[in-house]
Amino acid sequence: MGRSADRGGGWLGPVLAVVVLATGLGATWYGAAGLRADDATNARRVMDQRTAVARASVIAETGRYLDLLQTVAAGLGAGPDISASGFQAATAPLATSRLTGATGVALVVPADTAEVAAVEAAWRARGAAGLRLSPRPGTTRHLFPVLSRPLNATVPATPGADLAASVEASAALAEGRRTGAPAVSDAYVLLRDRALPPSRQQLSFVFAAPVYAPGDGGAFRGWVVLGLRGQDFLGGVLGDASQGLLAGTLRATDSAGRAVTVAAYQALGRRDLRRQATFPVGDQHWTLVTEADSARLPGARTLLPLTVEVGGAAATVLLAGLMYVLATGRARAQARVRTATAELRQAEAEARRQAGLLSAIMASLGDGVGVIDEQGRYLLHNPAARALLGTDADVDGPDNWQRHYGLFLPDGTTPFPEERMPLVRGLRGESSDGVEMIVRNAGRPEGILLSVDGRPLDASAGQRGAVAVFRDITALRRYENDLAVFAGVVAHDLKAPLSVVRAHCELAIDQLAEAPPSDDVTQAHTALRRILGAADRMAALIDTLLAYTTARDAPLSLTVVPLGPLVADVVRERTEHLRRGTDPSPAIYVGALPAVTGDPAMLRHVVDNLIGNALKYVRPGQDPRVDVTALPAEGDRVRFTVADRGIGIPDDDKPRIFETFHRAHAGKGYAGTGLGLAICRRIVERHGGTVTVEDNPGGGTRFVVSLPAAAADAAGDGEPAAAPLPLPAPEHARA
Ligand code: ADP
Repeated sequence: MGRSADRGGGWLGPVLAVVVLATGLGATWYGAAGLRADDATNARRVMDQRTAVARASVIAETGRYLDLLQTVAAGLGAGPDISASGFQAATAPLATSRLTGATGVALVVPADTAEVAAVEAAWRARGAAGLRLSPRPGTTRHLFPVLSRPLNATVPATPGADLAASVEASAALAEGRRTGAPAVSDAYVLLRDRALPPSRQQLSFVFAAPVYAPGDGGAFRGWVVLGLRGQDFLGGVLGDASQGLLAGTLRATDSAGRAVTVAAYQALGRRDLRRQATFPVGDQHWTLVTEADSARLPGARTLLPLTVEVGGAAATVLLAGLMYVLATGRARAQARVRTATAELRQAEAEARRQAGLLSAIMASLGDGVGVIDEQGRYLLHNPAARALLGTDADVDGPDNWQRHYGLFLPDGTTPFPEERMPLVRGLRGESSDGVEMIVRNAGRPEGILLSVDGRPLDASAGQRGAVAVFRDITALRRYENDLAVFAGVVAHDLKAPLSVVRAHCELAIDQLAEAPPSDDVTQAHTALRRILGAADRMAALIDTLLAYTTARDAPLSLTVVPLGPLVADVVRERTEHLRRGTDPSPAIYVGALPAVTGDPAMLRHVVDNLIGNALKYVRPGQDPRVDVTALPAEGDRVRFTVADRGIGIPDDDKPRIFETFHRAHAGKGYAGTGLGLAICRRIVERHGGTVTVEDNPGGGTRFVVSLPAAAADAAGDGEPAAAPLPLPAPEHARA
């Protein structure tokens, strides 16, 4: 399910990114296109302005030339006669007027072939020194420049050359004379330029203003003629006006009505904008075509569209990337959440199942179970626990338990001490087993005896606390008691006849001693000794059984018991009958021993049993060695140790030797009943202590008994009441 959901959300990121990319790039393109359109509009506007300026320049310049020419013509016509000096003076302003493209200005006079010599002589006389007129053959009507002033001319004029050689010039002059106003020729190659190589020739014009003597009907005196090179003129004027941004073509419409391209002016770049304007120049019409590269026109192309494009594209890509990451991130996060939720559900279901299982187990358990947290609050009490405790209401806090549940020591009257309760000990990290307590309360007026095991709560529970398991042993105890009474009665009734048997045996032995020795007497003596031995063993067994019963049931009379004198007494009793030489000679070391709180008779039984076993379980022929020591231990306790170097106890047997009748070395010739250690454990536990067994590091066995220490001021602690006993051989004793 999680997987298909992943797949379902997988397309969202890329699709969103593509949508953002498309939208962003579209908007960017649209914005940039708008800006480009603005730029194009700007370009057209600039083009219009530039073209207007160029056209105005051409119109203004040609107008100025014609005006100047007319002024010169008027000036020349005004005088009585025209002389070379007068011509120079009249045309002097032209030299300083920066007439772009103008080749020169000349006074042209008409002459018939017959008049040529006279005209030549006359103008020589008027100052045109060395004038030689060259009439064009084939025509009778000639047009001779007689006076001239060069203007910017790179190619000098040919003085006296016949202008009639040019149809265009002749026509213009004739037109000027006819109208009395300045006339402009069609385009042609000036006579003076005709000698140039074709690549350097350019189409030109002549501007001709007729010169008349003053007054109405004044005599015609000729023409003031200005040569104008088309290419030079256009280059100069357009170069200034367009500042190199406009390309231009100048076209003139000739008298035949044809448009002739006179000059072209180049500019850089492509030509995507084109303008055309036709305007009058004198009696002619010229057309100026301008072209430009919109990209190069100032103000027409900005970096804004490019900036918008680059910036917009970058922002779009970034945004799309971000969108992708966010969308897929969201999908990823959702998938993770789904997985986690599924796991959580599974875990929850498992936890529920476990909890259900646990409560089912708890409900069906016959033993009572109680769990508390570290503050002593009840976390759990199963139904069996409530039934056993006789109440449904739990109360928190160990200090309330005794009264609330009615808890007493096995004597049935002493309130159970809080610090000895298995749950309280569990909180301290201690384990306890088989702690007996009486529960007597309103729900359990008759009182029941519980056996309680306590443990610290396992760390896997996730919190500190303690758990107790308890069961009703009232019936069992009653049965045991009955049995004990029975055993006591039996023991007592057995001991009496046994004493009688013993007494009679000893009497018979004494009487046999007086009889004369014979085989029969010897046999009878041996038989009597055996009977005596068997009676002794039986008496010992009965004593042990009685001790067992006593250990379990007899009330404790607690007092301060100094262990030193007690141990010394036991050692003395255990060793005084040993005969040097024949019996083993044990080495017994007794360290400094403190006092404990307990029942002296019962504790004596424990010490006697442990020392007795240590002396008994040695290899045949080996001298026993025993170390009795004690150390203070945690929680006001005493660690009392009896260690030997005997035959030791196999590991498998160690846990069981405290059970009744369990013998680790049965059949190996060591006398015993298997009850001694069971009695020891019972006594020690009734004192709130423990007894354990372990290997003695030096070989043999070590029993460790933990008992409550006597109050510090109660007894002469630490006094080695039975200082290392020199029994029997001094070399065994330790310093
Ligand atoms: P028993 O009457 O057999 O001595 P106990 O209850 O005193 O019974 O001891 C139980 C068994 O533990 C013994 O039979 C013996 O096998 C073993 N045992 C006890 N003390 C020692 C010891 N000091 N060294 C070796 N084995 C021991």
